[in-house]
Amino acid sequence: MSYVSFSLKYRPQRFEHVVGQEHVSRTLMNAVRTGRIHHAYLFSGPRGTGKTSTARVLAKALNCVNGPTPEPCGVCEFCQAVQNGRAMDVIEIDAASNRGIDEIRELREKVKYSPAEARCKVYILDEVHMLTTEAFNALLKTLEEPPAHSFFVLATTESHRVPATILSRCQRFDFRPIPVAKAAEALAMIAREEGIEAEPAALEAIARAGEGAMRDAESIFDQVVAYTEGAVTLEVVNTVLGVTEAETLAEVADLMVGENVPDGFALVDRVVSAGKDVAQLMADLTLYLRDLLRISLNSEPSAWRLSGDEGRERMVAQARALGPDRLLEAVRVLATAQNELRSSNQPALLLELTVTRLCQAPEAAPAPRRPAQVSQARPQAATPGPAGQPLHAAPPRHQPRPMPPIQPISQGEVSLQALQEHWGDVQGELKRMGKMPVTAIIKEAIPISYADGVVVLGFSDRHAFHCNQVRDKYKADVEMALQRLFGQAITIDCRLGEVLPQAPAPDQPVQAPPVATEPAPVETAEAPPDVYEQEYAPDPTEPQVNQAAEQICSPEPAEAPPPPTLDQAVANTLMLFEGSQEIDGDE
Ligand SMILES: [Zn+2]
Repeated sequence: MSYVSFSLKYRPQRFEHVVGQEHVSRTLMNAVRTGRIHHAYLFSGPRGTGKTSTARVLAKALNCVNGPTPEPCGVCEFCQAVQNGRAMDVIEIDAASNRGIDEIRELREKVKYSPAEARCKVYILDEVHMLTTEAFNALLKTLEEPPAHSFFVLATTESHRVPATILSRCQRFDFRPIPVAKAAEALAMIAREEGIEAEPAALEAIARAGEGAMRDAESIFDQVVAYTEGAVTLEVVNTVLGVTEAETLAEVADLMVGENVPDGFALVDRVVSAGKDVAQLMADLTLYLRDLLRISLNSEPSAWRLSGDEGRERMVAQARALGPDRLLEAVRVLATAQNELRSSNQPALLLELTVTRLCQAPEAAPAPRRPAQVSQARPQAATPGPAGQPLHAAPPRHQPRPMPPIQPISQGEVSLQALQEHWGDVQGELKRMGKMPVTAIIKEAIPISYADGVVVLGFSDRHAFHCNQVRDKYKADVEMALQRLFGQAITIDCRLGEVLPQAPAPDQPVQAPPVATEPAPVETAEAPPDVYEQEYAPDPTEPQVNQAAEQICSPEPAEAPPPPTLDQAVANTLMLFEGSQEIDGDE
């Protein structure tokens, strides 16, 4: 007997066999059972999700000798005819290649005639969105007055291209991408039927590669089975798919957490000498980090690539340790690298540079920077700051640098003047906390009043975006930075359109002790020299050094105005963030 592919051999013959579309199957079975069958259905959804299969099962359900029945027998003459594609009264039309008015006119003529052998005629129009406008108009006439013996199933992957007039004539069903677990379960059933030994992890990897389409998953399974003599293992599947092992991807994330560049080189050497495809590795790594990004934003990843509870915990720990800002940046770095890869003839070098950038400390990425010296100057001995401890849920192989503690600017009463004068330090502190996006945003805020532990931050009307971002997303971060700097809890209150003249006026009513009026680092007298303080503390000779904190990597002198595109860049970064969350919503 000739070889039959799994997708044909295991094509659903009953409603309950259609994988992952229970919401459709249940409704259709009820409709058949109660005799309330519509004359026109629209099946919308991605390819390979069971639209045509369901339409054929519906045809059987209507025409089975036992029918109409929600459970067609599968053995009667008519069920067999549909199964073998010989049923004269089940007419499948590929609208992509029959999209003109003539074909639909012909259909209209034939619809009138009674079925040749079955109880009713079922027309299945695949890719119906491909029809021309005239053809749609002709079809509409038929759908408006369908003969009693005719039923239509319009299938489409792009329902938005189907005219509203047609949609309003149809009962619509949305077919969903098949969840990995469901697809893997269906593959396991095939494996049992075929007597194929297969690892669950291998089937899960195949299901994932099917990307929501059962048909694709089945084809890949076909390929894998053809490739291997023995059992279907994850290793075999990865070889056939050319996929990077999840372990390698997780290793890169671990190196990022540990900021371990040397081992990054070793990993690249290993991967390249194993003959892995650099483009594939970058694509897989992008997906992996994107999943970590989702986890860090409390969203479900597209896949838990590491198997078992242990694997999940490892991904969660990585996501938590890296945080959304760094992961977002990593995904951007990879996206750029993938672009460059197309025109590069040195993929291995590009991979090395990319992995180096990913594994570098975030603030070190653009250029070698001083904070590296901070940790050398103040090793582990120092007690971590209040924001220091909860970051790392799993012990990374290389201990990341702890956030060096800082000397609060003022231990005494906080004043408006102190807040205004040290506003640049707040930016510096946020940067140091790794909160890059908010660093540039907070620059547009001006402390305009302070009382009872609450500072009112004014934003000009031009900076509504900034104001909302701080209020809705970054309030806790800014308050943490204030607490670290001023040594006490300070709440912020963001107001749009309320701004005072920018420069902090020294002669303004002072409600504060004189401690902060002197811009020079007053505490150096009583505190031991602190490397960080020296870096960020205001210096009378360079009054803008802190405002320039976010430009610290640029060699420009501090008086250079901030680049005008910075805000835009930050806004774009945040848009990307929102975008990634919207994607979650869609799925
Ligand atoms: Zn039957």
